[in-house]
Amino acid sequence: MSNQQSTGRHLVWFRTDLRVHDNPALYHAMTTAQSQAQQVLAVYFVTPEQWRQHGLGERKIRLMQNAVHNLKQALAERGVELLVLHAGTFNHSLQLLQQLVLELDIRHISFNNEYEVNECKRDILCYRWANIHQVNVHRFHDQCLIPPGAVLTKTNLPFKVYSPFRKAWLAQAERQLSAPLPSPAALQQPSSTTSTTWQQILTEPLRRALTLTDQCPDARWFDDESSAHHALHNFLQQQGRHYHQRRDFPALDATSQLSTALSLGLLSPRQCLFAASQANQGLLAGGTAGLDSWINELTWREFYRHLLVACPDLCKHQAFKPETERVKWRDAEADFQAWCDGRTGYPIVDAAQQQLLTTGWMHNRLRMVSAMFLSKHLLIDWRRGEAFFNQYLVDADLASNNGGWQWSASTGADGVPYFRIFNPTTQSQRFDADGQFLIRYLPQLTSLPATSRHQPNAFERQQTGYPDAIVDHAFARQRALNAFKALKQEN
Ligand code: FAD
Repeated sequence: MSNQQSTGRHLVWFRTDLRVHDNPALYHAMTTAQSQAQQVLAVYFVTPEQWRQHGLGERKIRLMQNAVHNLKQALAERGVELLVLHAGTFNHSLQLLQQLVLELDIRHISFNNEYEVNECKRDILCYRWANIHQVNVHRFHDQCLIPPGAVLTKTNLPFKVYSPFRKAWLAQAERQLSAPLPSPAALQQPSSTTSTTWQQILTEPLRRALTLTDQCPDARWFDDESSAHHALHNFLQQQGRHYHQRRDFPALDATSQLSTALSLGLLSPRQCLFAASQANQGLLAGGTAGLDSWINELTWREFYRHLLVACPDLCKHQAFKPETERVKWRDAEADFQAWCDGRTGYPIVDAAQQQLLTTGWMHNRLRMVSAMFLSKHLLIDWRRGEAFFNQYLVDADLASNNGGWQWSASTGADGVPYFRIFNPTTQSQRFDADGQFLIRYLPQLTSLPATSRHQPNAFERQQTGYPDAIVDHAFARQRALNAFKALKQEN
Protein backbone atom coordinates (compact mmCIF):
# COMPACT_ATOMS: atom_id res chain seq x y z
CA MET A 1 0.00 0.00 0.00
CA SER A 2 2.94 2.39 0.26
CA ASN A 3 4.44 4.33 -2.65
CA GLN A 4 7.98 4.85 -1.26
CA GLN A 5 10.33 3.27 1.22
CA SER A 6 12.07 5.43 3.80
CA THR A 7 12.16 6.16 7.50
CA GLY A 8 11.20 9.32 9.48
CA ARG A 9 8.38 10.81 11.55
CA HIS A 10 4.86 9.43 11.00
CA LEU A 11 1.66 11.42 10.61
CA VAL A 12 -1.81 9.89 11.05
CA TRP A 13 -4.54 11.91 9.35
CA PHE A 14 -7.83 11.41 11.18
CA ARG A 15 -11.18 11.92 9.41
CA THR A 16 -14.32 9.83 10.07
CA ASP A 17 -12.40 7.32 12.19
CA LEU A 18 -12.25 9.05 15.58
CA ARG A 19 -11.05 6.06 17.61
CA VAL A 20 -7.86 4.37 18.78
CA HIS A 21 -9.13 0.75 18.68
CA ASP A 22 -9.41 -1.07 15.37
CA ASN A 23 -8.02 1.89 13.50
CA PRO A 24 -5.81 0.43 10.72
CA ALA A 25 -4.05 3.72 9.87
CA LEU A 26 -3.18 4.47 13.48
CA TYR A 27 -2.22 0.87 14.18
CA HIS A 28 0.10 0.73 11.18
CA ALA A 29 1.80 4.04 12.02
CA MET A 30 2.26 3.28 15.71
CA THR A 31 3.48 -0.29 15.38
CA THR A 32 5.94 0.69 12.63
CA ALA A 33 7.18 3.71 14.59
CA GLN A 34 7.48 1.64 17.77
CA SER A 35 9.72 -0.91 16.12
CA GLN A 36 11.98 1.84 14.72
CA ALA A 37 11.91 4.15 17.77
CA GLN A 38 10.24 6.92 15.76
CA GLN A 39 7.63 9.53 16.65
CA VAL A 40 4.00 9.66 15.56
CA LEU A 41 2.00 12.87 15.19
CA ALA A 42 -1.69 13.02 14.31
CA VAL A 43 -3.77 15.68 12.61
CA TYR A 44 -7.46 16.49 12.29
CA PHE A 45 -8.65 19.32 10.06
CA VAL A 46 -11.66 21.34 11.13
CA THR A 47 -13.31 22.36 7.85
CA PRO A 48 -16.40 24.41 8.77
CA GLU A 49 -16.81 25.95 5.32
CA GLN A 50 -16.76 22.52 3.75
CA TRP A 51 -19.27 21.23 6.31
CA ARG A 52 -21.60 24.17 5.72
CA GLN A 53 -21.36 23.66 1.95
CA HIS A 54 -22.48 20.08 2.56
CA GLY A 55 -25.33 21.28 4.78
CA LEU A 56 -24.08 19.49 7.88
CA GLY A 57 -25.97 20.54 10.99
CA GLU A 58 -24.80 22.06 14.20
CA ARG A 59 -25.55 19.06 16.42
CA LYS A 60 -23.40 16.76 14.35
CA ILE A 61 -20.59 19.32 14.21
CA ARG A 62 -20.74 19.71 17.98
CA LEU A 63 -20.54 15.94 18.45
CA MET A 64 -17.54 15.75 16.11
CA GLN A 65 -15.87 18.50 18.09
CA ASN A 66 -16.39 16.60 21.36
CA ALA A 67 -15.26 13.34 19.80
CA VAL A 68 -12.06 14.98 18.52
CA HIS A 69 -11.40 16.38 21.99
CA ASN A 70 -11.76 12.88 23.50
CA LEU A 71 -9.59 11.38 20.80
CA LYS A 72 -6.88 13.94 21.55
CA GLN A 73 -6.76 12.72 25.14
CA ALA A 74 -6.76 9.05 24.18
CA LEU A 75 -3.87 9.67 21.76
CA ALA A 76 -1.91 11.74 24.30
CA GLU A 77 -2.04 8.76 26.68
CA ARG A 78 -0.34 6.76 23.95
CA GLY A 79 2.36 9.33 23.28
CA VAL A 80 0.79 10.80 20.13
CA GLU A 81 0.01 14.50 19.87
CA LEU A 82 -3.13 15.33 17.87
CA LEU A 83 -2.99 18.70 16.09
CA VAL A 84 -6.49 20.08 15.52
CA LEU A 85 -6.11 22.60 12.73
CA HIS A 86 -8.67 25.03 11.38
CA ALA A 87 -8.62 24.60 7.63
CA GLY A 88 -11.96 25.90 6.36
CA THR A 89 -12.03 23.88 3.14
CA PHE A 90 -10.48 20.71 1.77
CA ASN A 91 -8.05 22.72 -0.38
CA HIS A 92 -6.80 24.58 2.63
CA SER A 93 -6.44 21.35 4.60
CA LEU A 94 -4.19 20.00 1.84
CA GLN A 95 -2.05 23.13 1.94
CA LEU A 96 -1.73 22.87 5.72
CA LEU A 97 -0.88 19.19 5.46
CA GLN A 98 1.90 19.91 2.99
CA GLN A 99 3.30 22.67 5.20
CA LEU A 100 3.12 20.39 8.23
CA VAL A 101 4.90 17.54 6.45
CA LEU A 102 7.74 19.74 5.27
CA GLU A 103 8.24 21.68 8.51
CA LEU A 104 8.03 18.74 10.87
CA ASP A 105 10.06 16.33 8.77
CA ILE A 106 7.29 13.81 8.26
CA ARG A 107 8.20 10.84 6.09
CA HIS A 108 5.00 8.76 6.36
CA ILE A 109 1.34 9.77 6.12
CA SER A 110 -1.30 7.18 7.06
CA PHE A 111 -5.05 7.50 6.70
CA ASN A 112 -8.23 5.48 6.31
CA ASN A 113 -10.01 6.03 3.00
CA GLU A 114 -13.12 8.11 2.58
CA TYR A 115 -15.22 7.29 -0.47
CA GLU A 116 -17.15 10.44 -1.39
CA VAL A 117 -16.08 12.06 -4.68
CA ASN A 118 -14.50 15.23 -3.25
CA GLU A 119 -12.72 13.27 -0.54
CA CYS A 120 -11.31 10.86 -3.14
CA LYS A 121 -10.05 13.78 -5.26
CA ARG A 122 -8.41 15.32 -2.19
CA ASP A 123 -6.65 12.05 -1.39
CA ILE A 124 -5.38 11.62 -4.95
CA LEU A 125 -3.89 15.14 -4.82
CA CYS A 126 -2.29 14.29 -1.48
CA TYR A 127 -0.85 11.08 -2.88
CA ARG A 128 0.61 12.83 -5.96
CA TRP A 129 2.18 15.59 -3.90
CA ALA A 130 3.64 13.09 -1.43
CA ASN A 131 5.10 11.06 -4.28
CA ILE A 132 6.92 14.09 -5.65
CA HIS A 133 8.29 14.88 -2.17
CA GLN A 134 9.23 11.27 -1.46
CA VAL A 135 6.84 10.94 1.43
CA ASN A 136 5.25 7.52 1.93
CA VAL A 137 1.46 7.37 1.88
CA HIS A 138 -0.23 4.40 3.55
CA ARG A 139 -3.95 4.07 2.87
CA PHE A 140 -6.35 1.67 4.57
CA HIS A 141 -9.99 0.64 4.47
CA ASP A 142 -12.05 0.90 7.63
CA GLN A 143 -15.51 2.18 6.65
CA CYS A 144 -16.76 -1.16 5.36
CA LEU A 145 -15.95 -4.68 6.39
CA ILE A 146 -15.21 -5.55 2.75
CA PRO A 147 -13.81 -2.64 0.72
CA PRO A 148 -16.09 -1.14 -1.94
CA GLY A 149 -15.35 -2.70 -5.30
CA ALA A 150 -14.46 -6.08 -3.81
CA VAL A 151 -17.98 -7.59 -3.90
CA LEU A 152 -18.88 -8.14 -7.54
CA THR A 153 -21.27 -10.13 -9.69
CA LYS A 154 -20.10 -13.15 -11.70
CA THR A 155 -19.46 -10.74 -14.58
CA ASN A 156 -17.32 -8.52 -12.35
CA LEU A 157 -19.84 -5.72 -12.06
CA PRO A 158 -21.05 -3.99 -8.90
CA PHE A 159 -24.35 -5.24 -7.52
CA LYS A 160 -27.32 -2.92 -8.04
CA VAL A 161 -29.80 -5.09 -6.12
CA TYR A 162 -29.56 -5.75 -2.41
CA SER A 163 -30.41 -9.49 -2.02
CA PRO A 164 -27.71 -10.89 -4.33
CA PHE A 165 -25.23 -8.36 -2.89
CA ARG A 166 -26.06 -9.61 0.58
CA LYS A 167 -25.53 -13.22 -0.43
CA ALA A 168 -22.14 -12.51 -2.01
CA TRP A 169 -21.11 -10.14 0.79
CA LEU A 170 -22.01 -12.65 3.52
CA ALA A 171 -20.02 -15.42 1.87
CA GLN A 172 -16.91 -13.19 1.71
CA ALA A 173 -17.48 -11.66 5.12
CA GLU A 174 -17.77 -15.04 6.79
CA ARG A 175 -14.33 -15.96 5.39
CA GLN A 176 -12.63 -12.61 5.96
CA LEU A 177 -14.02 -11.41 9.29
CA SER A 178 -11.07 -11.16 11.68
CA ALA A 179 -10.80 -9.87 15.23
CA PRO A 180 -10.61 -6.07 15.46
CA LEU A 181 -7.16 -4.54 15.88
CA PRO A 182 -6.22 -3.66 19.45
CA SER A 183 -5.36 -0.15 20.52
CA PRO A 184 -1.60 0.28 19.91
CA ALA A 185 0.71 0.36 22.94
CA ALA A 186 2.01 3.75 24.14
CA LEU A 187 5.09 4.92 22.25
CA GLN A 188 8.51 4.94 23.86
CA GLN A 189 9.18 8.26 22.10
CA PRO A 190 6.15 10.53 22.70
CA SER A 191 5.65 13.28 20.13
CA SER A 192 5.19 17.00 20.63
CA THR A 193 5.40 19.97 18.29
CA THR A 194 7.75 22.77 19.18
CA SER A 195 7.12 24.96 16.14
CA THR A 196 5.35 28.19 17.12
CA THR A 197 3.45 28.29 13.82
CA TRP A 198 1.57 25.15 14.69
CA GLN A 199 0.97 26.26 18.25
CA GLN A 200 -0.58 29.48 16.95
CA ILE A 201 -2.91 27.59 14.68
CA LEU A 202 -3.73 25.33 17.58
CA THR A 203 -4.73 28.20 19.83
CA GLU A 204 -7.36 29.36 17.32
CA PRO A 205 -10.51 28.66 19.31
CA LEU A 206 -12.42 25.90 17.65
CA ARG A 207 -15.68 27.34 18.84
CA ARG A 208 -15.08 30.66 17.08
CA ALA A 209 -14.09 28.88 13.92
CA LEU A 210 -17.34 26.98 13.99
CA THR A 211 -19.54 29.80 15.34
CA LEU A 212 -21.65 27.29 17.17
CA THR A 213 -24.65 28.34 19.21
CA ASP A 214 -25.58 26.60 22.43
CA GLN A 215 -27.77 23.95 20.83
CA CYS A 216 -26.47 20.80 22.53
CA PRO A 217 -26.73 17.31 21.18
CA ASP A 218 -29.04 15.01 23.10
CA ALA A 219 -27.07 13.42 25.95
CA ARG A 220 -27.65 9.92 24.61
CA TRP A 221 -25.29 10.42 21.65
CA PHE A 222 -21.82 9.32 22.58
CA ASP A 223 -18.76 11.30 21.75
CA ASP A 224 -16.22 8.79 23.05
CA GLU A 225 -15.39 5.30 21.95
CA SER A 226 -15.62 3.55 25.31
CA SER A 227 -19.28 4.58 25.77
CA ALA A 228 -19.98 3.37 22.25
CA HIS A 229 -18.39 -0.01 23.10
CA HIS A 230 -20.48 -0.38 26.23
CA ALA A 231 -23.60 0.43 24.23
CA LEU A 232 -22.68 -2.15 21.57
CA HIS A 233 -22.13 -4.91 24.12
CA ASN A 234 -25.23 -4.00 26.15
CA PHE A 235 -27.31 -4.03 22.99
CA LEU A 236 -26.01 -7.44 21.90
CA GLN A 237 -26.55 -8.96 25.34
CA GLN A 238 -29.92 -7.45 26.13
CA GLN A 239 -31.84 -6.33 23.03
CA GLY A 240 -30.14 -8.12 20.15
CA ARG A 241 -32.00 -11.41 20.54
CA HIS A 242 -35.40 -9.71 20.18
CA TYR A 243 -34.32 -7.19 17.54
CA HIS A 244 -36.26 -8.83 14.66
CA GLN A 245 -39.52 -8.69 16.61
CA ARG A 246 -39.13 -5.25 18.15
CA ARG A 247 -37.07 -3.16 15.73
CA ASP A 248 -40.06 -1.67 13.89
CA PHE A 249 -41.83 -0.26 16.96
CA PRO A 250 -40.52 3.24 17.68
CA ALA A 251 -41.91 3.42 21.23
CA LEU A 252 -39.79 0.44 22.32
CA ASP A 253 -36.36 1.96 21.69
CA ALA A 254 -35.30 -1.54 20.65
CA THR A 255 -32.66 -0.69 18.06
CA SER A 256 -28.99 -0.15 18.90
CA GLN A 257 -28.89 3.62 18.25
CA LEU A 258 -25.27 3.13 17.22
CA SER A 259 -25.58 4.88 13.86
CA THR A 260 -24.11 8.09 15.25
CA ALA A 261 -21.08 6.27 16.67
CA LEU A 262 -20.62 4.51 13.31
CA SER A 263 -20.91 7.75 11.37
CA LEU A 264 -18.24 9.45 13.49
CA GLY A 265 -16.05 6.38 13.45
CA LEU A 266 -16.16 5.89 17.23
CA LEU A 267 -16.96 2.31 16.28
CA SER A 268 -15.91 0.43 13.16
CA PRO A 269 -18.24 -1.88 11.26
CA ARG A 270 -15.74 -4.67 11.92
CA GLN A 271 -16.09 -4.18 15.69
CA CYS A 272 -19.90 -4.35 15.37
CA LEU A 273 -19.92 -7.33 13.03
CA PHE A 274 -17.26 -9.25 14.95
CA ALA A 275 -19.10 -8.78 18.25
CA ALA A 276 -22.42 -9.71 16.61
CA SER A 277 -20.85 -12.73 14.95
CA GLN A 278 -19.41 -13.96 18.26
CA ALA A 279 -22.78 -13.55 19.96
CA ASN A 280 -24.45 -15.28 17.02
CA GLN A 281 -21.99 -18.10 16.30
CA GLY A 282 -21.20 -16.67 12.88
CA LEU A 283 -22.48 -14.09 10.43
CA LEU A 284 -24.56 -16.41 8.29
CA ALA A 285 -28.16 -17.06 9.23
CA GLY A 286 -28.46 -19.83 11.80
CA GLY A 287 -27.81 -18.09 15.10
CA THR A 288 -30.59 -16.07 16.65
CA ALA A 289 -33.15 -14.46 14.36
CA GLY A 290 -32.61 -11.18 16.20
CA LEU A 291 -28.88 -10.98 15.52
CA ASP A 292 -29.29 -12.24 11.95
CA SER A 293 -31.63 -9.36 11.40
CA TRP A 294 -29.25 -6.83 12.98
CA ILE A 295 -26.36 -8.09 10.82
CA ASN A 296 -28.67 -7.65 7.84
CA GLU A 297 -29.08 -3.94 8.67
CA LEU A 298 -25.32 -3.48 8.87
CA THR A 299 -25.16 -5.15 5.47
CA TRP A 300 -27.54 -2.49 4.07
CA ARG A 301 -25.04 0.07 5.33
CA GLU A 302 -22.28 -1.72 3.43
CA PHE A 303 -24.47 -2.00 0.30
CA TYR A 304 -25.10 1.75 0.16
CA ARG A 305 -21.38 2.50 0.54
CA HIS A 306 -20.43 0.06 -2.20
CA LEU A 307 -23.12 1.61 -4.39
CA LEU A 308 -21.81 5.14 -3.79
CA VAL A 309 -18.38 4.11 -5.03
CA ALA A 310 -19.84 2.25 -8.03
CA CYS A 311 -22.10 5.21 -8.94
CA PRO A 312 -20.25 8.41 -7.93
CA ASP A 313 -23.09 10.55 -9.36
CA LEU A 314 -24.99 9.63 -6.20
CA CYS A 315 -22.62 12.03 -4.42
CA LYS A 316 -24.09 14.77 -6.64
CA HIS A 317 -27.55 13.67 -5.51
CA GLN A 318 -28.54 12.39 -8.93
CA ALA A 319 -31.32 9.82 -9.08
CA PHE A 320 -30.04 6.26 -9.44
CA LYS A 321 -32.83 5.59 -11.99
CA PRO A 322 -32.26 8.33 -14.59
CA GLU A 323 -35.86 8.22 -15.86
CA THR A 324 -37.10 9.39 -12.46
CA GLU A 325 -35.29 12.71 -13.01
CA ARG A 326 -38.37 13.50 -15.13
CA VAL A 327 -40.86 13.22 -12.24
CA LYS A 328 -42.72 16.53 -12.02
CA TRP A 329 -42.04 17.32 -8.38
CA ARG A 330 -44.26 19.98 -6.85
CA ASP A 331 -42.86 23.33 -5.90
CA ALA A 332 -44.96 23.62 -2.74
CA GLU A 333 -43.09 25.68 -0.18
CA ALA A 334 -45.86 25.82 2.44
CA ASP A 335 -46.27 22.03 2.32
CA PHE A 336 -42.52 21.56 2.62
CA GLN A 337 -42.36 23.84 5.64
CA ALA A 338 -45.28 22.00 7.27
CA TRP A 339 -43.40 18.72 6.80
CA CYS A 340 -40.15 20.17 8.16
CA ASP A 341 -41.89 21.56 11.26
CA GLY A 342 -44.06 18.48 11.88
CA ARG A 343 -47.39 20.20 11.06
CA THR A 344 -48.78 17.91 8.36
CA GLY A 345 -51.81 16.81 10.40
CA TYR A 346 -50.65 13.17 10.12
CA PRO A 347 -49.60 12.34 13.72
CA ILE A 348 -47.04 9.66 12.83
CA VAL A 349 -45.27 11.98 10.37
CA ASP A 350 -45.39 14.92 12.76
CA ALA A 351 -44.16 12.89 15.75
CA ALA A 352 -41.32 11.55 13.58
CA GLN A 353 -40.29 15.05 12.56
CA GLN A 354 -40.47 16.16 16.19
CA GLN A 355 -38.21 13.29 17.19
CA LEU A 356 -35.69 14.47 14.61
CA LEU A 357 -35.92 18.13 15.61
CA THR A 358 -35.66 17.52 19.34
CA THR A 359 -33.17 14.62 19.53
CA GLY A 360 -31.26 14.71 16.23
CA TRP A 361 -32.22 11.12 15.43
CA MET A 362 -35.24 9.35 13.93
CA HIS A 363 -36.30 5.71 14.14
CA ASN A 364 -35.78 3.78 10.88
CA ARG A 365 -39.47 2.90 10.37
CA LEU A 366 -40.33 6.57 10.78
CA ARG A 367 -37.59 7.67 8.38
CA MET A 368 -39.29 5.52 5.74
CA VAL A 369 -42.79 6.81 6.61
CA SER A 370 -41.71 10.45 6.70
CA ALA A 371 -39.55 10.25 3.56
CA MET A 372 -42.33 8.54 1.66
CA PHE A 373 -44.85 11.13 2.85
CA LEU A 374 -42.70 13.98 1.51
CA SER A 375 -41.83 12.34 -1.79
CA LYS A 376 -45.18 10.66 -2.52
CA HIS A 377 -48.00 12.36 -0.58
CA LEU A 378 -46.59 15.85 -1.06
CA LEU A 379 -44.78 14.93 -4.31
CA ILE A 380 -41.85 17.12 -3.26
CA ASP A 381 -38.37 16.37 -4.61
CA TRP A 382 -36.69 13.81 -2.33
CA ARG A 383 -33.46 15.84 -2.46
CA ARG A 384 -35.07 18.53 -0.31
CA GLY A 385 -35.87 15.94 2.33
CA GLU A 386 -32.42 14.40 2.04
CA ALA A 387 -30.85 17.81 2.69
CA PHE A 388 -33.16 18.43 5.65
CA PHE A 389 -32.30 15.07 7.24
CA ASN A 390 -28.62 15.73 6.59
CA GLN A 391 -28.89 19.01 8.47
CA TYR A 392 -30.65 17.59 11.52
CA LEU A 393 -29.47 13.99 11.90
CA VAL A 394 -26.60 13.34 14.29
CA ASP A 395 -25.91 10.18 12.28
CA ALA A 396 -26.01 12.09 8.95
CA ASP A 397 -24.16 9.99 6.41
CA LEU A 398 -24.19 10.60 2.66
CA ALA A 399 -24.36 6.96 1.54
CA SER A 400 -27.09 5.80 3.95
CA ASN A 401 -29.12 8.99 3.79
CA ASN A 402 -29.08 9.07 0.02
CA GLY A 403 -29.82 5.33 -0.10
CA GLY A 404 -32.74 5.68 2.32
CA TRP A 405 -34.26 8.64 0.49
CA GLN A 406 -33.90 7.12 -2.95
CA TRP A 407 -35.38 3.87 -1.62
CA SER A 408 -38.41 5.72 -0.24
CA ALA A 409 -38.88 7.92 -3.31
CA SER A 410 -38.62 4.90 -5.69
CA THR A 411 -35.79 6.59 -7.58
CA GLY A 412 -33.03 4.37 -6.17
CA ALA A 413 -31.28 1.04 -6.60
CA ASP A 414 -33.64 -1.62 -5.32
CA GLY A 415 -36.05 1.07 -4.08
CA VAL A 416 -39.62 0.44 -3.04
CA PRO A 417 -41.86 0.05 -6.16
CA TYR A 418 -43.52 3.41 -6.91
CA PHE A 419 -47.02 1.97 -6.43
CA ARG A 420 -46.30 0.73 -2.88
CA ILE A 421 -47.16 3.88 -1.02
CA PHE A 422 -47.36 3.64 2.77
CA ASN A 423 -50.60 4.81 4.31
CA PRO A 424 -49.28 6.84 7.28
CA THR A 425 -52.34 6.11 9.40
CA THR A 426 -52.16 2.34 8.99
CA GLN A 427 -48.39 2.45 9.58
CA SER A 428 -49.13 4.27 12.82
CA GLN A 429 -51.83 1.77 13.88
CA ARG A 430 -49.54 -1.12 13.08
CA PHE A 431 -46.29 0.06 14.63
CA ASP A 432 -47.53 2.25 17.47
CA ALA A 433 -50.90 0.66 18.27
CA ASP A 434 -51.44 2.36 21.61
CA GLY A 435 -50.05 5.69 20.40
CA GLN A 436 -47.33 5.77 23.05
CA PHE A 437 -44.74 7.05 20.63
CA LEU A 438 -47.16 9.64 19.26
CA ILE A 439 -47.84 11.22 22.65
CA ARG A 440 -44.13 11.29 23.51
CA TYR A 441 -43.67 13.90 20.79
CA LEU A 442 -47.24 15.23 20.41
CA PRO A 443 -48.35 15.56 24.05
CA GLN A 444 -51.51 17.43 22.99
CA LEU A 445 -52.91 14.07 21.81
CA THR A 446 -52.56 12.45 25.27
CA SER A 447 -56.15 13.16 26.24
CA LEU A 448 -57.47 11.24 23.22
CA PRO A 449 -58.23 7.51 23.35
CA ALA A 450 -55.36 5.49 21.85
CA THR A 451 -57.37 4.55 18.75
CA SER A 452 -58.05 8.21 17.91
CA ARG A 453 -54.46 9.35 18.19
CA HIS A 454 -53.54 7.95 14.76
CA GLN A 455 -56.09 10.08 12.93
CA PRO A 456 -58.08 12.46 15.17
CA ASN A 457 -61.52 13.47 13.84
CA ALA A 458 -62.49 17.11 13.23
CA PHE A 459 -63.90 17.54 16.73
CA GLU A 460 -60.81 16.01 18.38
CA ARG A 461 -58.53 18.24 16.28
CA GLN A 462 -60.49 21.27 17.40
CA GLN A 463 -60.34 20.16 21.07
CA THR A 464 -56.61 19.43 21.08
CA GLY A 465 -55.50 22.18 18.68
CA TYR A 466 -53.93 19.53 16.44
CA PRO A 467 -53.86 20.74 12.79
CA ASP A 468 -55.99 19.40 9.91
CA ALA A 469 -54.33 17.03 7.44
CA ILE A 470 -52.64 19.09 4.71
CA VAL A 471 -53.58 16.54 2.06
CA ASP A 472 -56.06 13.70 1.71
CA HIS A 473 -54.37 10.28 1.61
CA ALA A 474 -56.40 8.81 -1.29
CA PHE A 475 -56.02 11.94 -3.40
CA ALA A 476 -52.28 12.22 -2.69
CA ARG A 477 -51.69 8.56 -3.43
CA GLN A 478 -53.39 8.84 -6.81
CA ARG A 479 -51.45 12.02 -7.65
CA ALA A 480 -48.15 10.24 -6.94
CA LEU A 481 -49.17 7.18 -8.96
CA ASN A 482 -50.08 9.44 -11.91
CA ALA A 483 -46.75 11.26 -11.70
CA PHE A 484 -44.79 7.99 -11.87
CA LYS A 485 -47.06 6.39 -14.49
CA ALA A 486 -46.55 9.46 -16.69
CA LEU A 487 -42.88 8.51 -16.97
CA LYS A 488 -43.82 5.25 -18.67
CA GLN A 489 -46.22 6.95 -21.07
CA GLU A 490 -43.54 9.46 -22.12
CA ASN A 491 -41.23 6.59 -23.16
P1 FAD B 1 -30.02 -0.41 14.10
O1 FAD B 1 -31.40 -0.83 13.74
O2 FAD B 1 -29.51 -0.80 15.41
O3 FAD B 1 -29.06 -0.96 12.95
C1 FAD B 1 -27.64 -1.12 13.16
C2 FAD B 1 -26.86 -0.29 12.19
O4 FAD B 1 -27.09 -0.72 10.86
C3 FAD B 1 -27.22 1.19 12.20
O5 FAD B 1 -26.56 1.88 13.23
C4 FAD B 1 -26.79 1.64 10.81
O6 FAD B 1 -25.40 1.90 10.76
C5 FAD B 1 -27.08 0.40 9.97
N1 FAD B 1 -28.39 0.51 9.34
C6 FAD B 1 -29.58 0.16 9.88
N2 FAD B 1 -30.57 0.33 8.99
C7 FAD B 1 -29.99 0.80 7.87
C8 FAD B 1 -30.48 1.18 6.58
N3 FAD B 1 -31.77 1.08 6.26
N4 FAD B 1 -29.61 1.65 5.67
C9 FAD B 1 -28.29 1.74 5.96
N5 FAD B 1 -27.76 1.40 7.15
C10 FAD B 1 -28.60 0.93 8.09
N6 FAD B 1 -28.57 5.84 8.50
C11 FAD B 1 -27.47 6.55 8.84
O7 FAD B 1 -26.57 6.01 9.50
N7 FAD B 1 -27.33 7.85 8.45
C12 FAD B 1 -28.28 8.51 7.72
O8 FAD B 1 -28.10 9.68 7.38
C13 FAD B 1 -29.46 7.78 7.39
N8 FAD B 1 -30.49 8.39 6.72
C14 FAD B 1 -31.61 7.65 6.39
C15 FAD B 1 -32.65 8.29 5.66
C16 FAD B 1 -33.79 7.56 5.32
C17 FAD B 1 -34.88 8.24 4.52
C18 FAD B 1 -33.90 6.21 5.69
C19 FAD B 1 -35.14 5.43 5.32
C20 FAD B 1 -32.90 5.59 6.40
C21 FAD B 1 -31.75 6.30 6.76
N9 FAD B 1 -30.70 5.69 7.50
C22 FAD B 1 -29.57 6.41 7.81
C23 FAD B 1 -30.74 4.26 7.83
C24 FAD B 1 -31.37 3.91 9.20
O9 FAD B 1 -32.59 4.56 9.36
C25 FAD B 1 -30.48 4.26 10.38
O10 FAD B 1 -29.18 3.76 10.17
C26 FAD B 1 -31.01 3.64 11.67
O11 FAD B 1 -32.30 4.11 11.93
C27 FAD B 1 -30.08 4.01 12.81
O12 FAD B 1 -30.59 3.53 14.02
P2 FAD B 1 -29.85 2.38 14.84
O13 FAD B 1 -28.42 2.73 14.99
O14 FAD B 1 -30.64 2.16 16.08
O15 FAD B 1 -29.98 1.17 13.85
